[in-house]
Amino acid sequence: MTVATTFSSAELGIDAPLVTVEADVSSGLPKTLIVGLAETAVRESKDRVKAAIKASGFDYPSRRITVNLAPADLPKSTGRYDLAIAVSILAASNQIPPECIDSYEFLGELSLTGALREVRGILPTALRNKGQGRRLIVPDVCGFEAALAESKDLYVASSLHEVLAHLATGQPLGRPGQWHAEEDNSETRSIADVKGQASAKRALAIAAAGRHNLLMIGPPGTGKTMLASRLPTLIPRMTLEESLQVASIASVSRQQFEYRHWRQRPFRTPHHTTSAVAMVGGSSPPKPGEISLAHNGVLFLDEVPEYSRQVLEVLREPLESGEIWISRAAQQVRYPAHFQLIAAMNPCPCGYFGDDTRECDCSAQQIHRYRSRLSGPLLDRIDLHIEVPPLPAGTLSDETTDKSKAGELKLTIAKTRTLMLERQGMLNSELTNRQITRHCPLSQADSRVLDEAVNKLGISARGYFKILKVARTIADLSEHKRIGTPHLVEAIGYRKLDRSP
Ligand SMILES: [Zn+2]
Repeated sequence: MTVATTFSSAELGIDAPLVTVEADVSSGLPKTLIVGLAETAVRESKDRVKAAIKASGFDYPSRRITVNLAPADLPKSTGRYDLAIAVSILAASNQIPPECIDSYEFLGELSLTGALREVRGILPTALRNKGQGRRLIVPDVCGFEAALAESKDLYVASSLHEVLAHLATGQPLGRPGQWHAEEDNSETRSIADVKGQASAKRALAIAAAGRHNLLMIGPPGTGKTMLASRLPTLIPRMTLEESLQVASIASVSRQQFEYRHWRQRPFRTPHHTTSAVAMVGGSSPPKPGEISLAHNGVLFLDEVPEYSRQVLEVLREPLESGEIWISRAAQQVRYPAHFQLIAAMNPCPCGYFGDDTRECDCSAQQIHRYRSRLSGPLLDRIDLHIEVPPLPAGTLSDETTDKSKAGELKLTIAKTRTLMLERQGMLNSELTNRQITRHCPLSQADSRVLDEAVNKLGISARGYFKILKVARTIADLSEHKRIGTPHLVEAIGYRKLDRSP
């Protein structure tokens, strides 16, 4: 037997396609060929594998060695295949029993001493491997992450030597330390922390219930950032499936993953100097950007007119589709990016337009230019625009700062979401125009109210449907089967920026 076959996994977005690793050891001048890897990756991998095999007390065959990684068109540029390559070479040279290694999958980079090093994308590999009948061996430093997959086929090792002892003599391997994902009650933030701003909180609750995108307009210091940061606390925790998606994105992005908070929705706040690549993802190999790190959670853009036009424009497509495709020379990678957008801006360049306590010295033209930095198409994708006015002096608390009321609100939002899902299988913000016609009928009188508002305010066709979706959510929050006049009028009121300043 001179050909040995085993398996490993590539990284492609948050997928981890299976890679076949075949080694052939034949007579001929000593030389190692690795087919299917980029040139520099081959050189580095050869050096590591050779040193690690020797350090583990085995022989590196001085013969002609060919290792083939298939399929050929997958990105294979890192050291993630080192362990599989080392095992297949030792099996092909009969130093370990060759017949058993095709029931294994290996993932891990080797150090020159044979220690196993962490690689990206362990969780996606463990999820894909689960239930396929092949044992997966990963570096023990990645144990917690792999264990989230709850797979019975999962083993960990700290070195090549440990793996070889297992394959040669059946010495048992370790199991990953199971993370007990108990309900975590460490969330201490609450909507009740925000003083005053009852109408902004109302809009935030509507946004939370229907998953509507929201834009807040108000002078500095009115609590816009604090309001936005409380949105994730109003939305029900992520399901197991949603949590695994978020953890998989963290895994391939090499973000520190907080296991303690793993059911809590992400809240990302990229700065306005963030580049388009950092926002949507990219570089080589392509890594997820902020919009994917906010998947299933909230992306908060403070001072939104300050972001570059290019950055704002690239948000449009994922806002519609919930995903982003990143193209690199030879490959296309998809990352999920189903995020809720919360944006905030000042009413004018100086920030104090409409504030009775301070003087605004911006001209009408300056204000217009400032607001038009938000392009129509992006604005069209935001369902609610609200004003967050300066707080009247002496505002300390009101009934919306009551913590038990905040708990009730959270329950109402959860109930409202369930109602939407039972009625139409999705949240209201996700309804298509055709579904809106079906689920958001208006009385004749209300249709006239809406038509008049649309004409008077110059609202776009997209804005028209947004109003209906928001009105549907407002009616759902109070368990009304049909949209009534007050629901519609309130929804029309949330189109602040459709009006001139
Ligand atoms: Zn101003």
